[in-house]
Amino acid sequence: MLLIPCPWCGPRAEPEFSYGGEPVIRPGPAESVTDADWADYLYMRSNEKGAHRENWCHTNGCGQWFTLTRDTVTHAILSAEKP
Ligand SMILES: [Zn+2]
Repeated sequence: MLLIPCPWCGPRAEPEFSYGGEPVIRPGPAESVTDADWADYLYMRSNEKGAHRENWCHTNGCGQWFTLTRDTVTHAILSAEKP
C-alpha cells in the first residue's frame, strides 16, 4: 500500500484515494480533430517505466485533485503538486 502525500491533508493511506490516470491534453478545436487524434486521446497512454506523472483524487478526504509523480518501478513518490 502506498502512503500518498495529499498536498492539502498530508500523508494518507492509498485506499483514501482514486487514481485518475496520466494527465492528457484534449485535442481541439473539435472541427479539426481527426479520428486518429481522438482515438489517441481516449486510449493511448505512455505507460512509462520510471518517473511517471499521474492524476489522483483524495476521494475519501478533502476531495481535491492533484498531480503525483511516482516511480513505476520502485513505487517511490517523488512529488505531489496542486493543480
Ligand atoms: Zn486531501
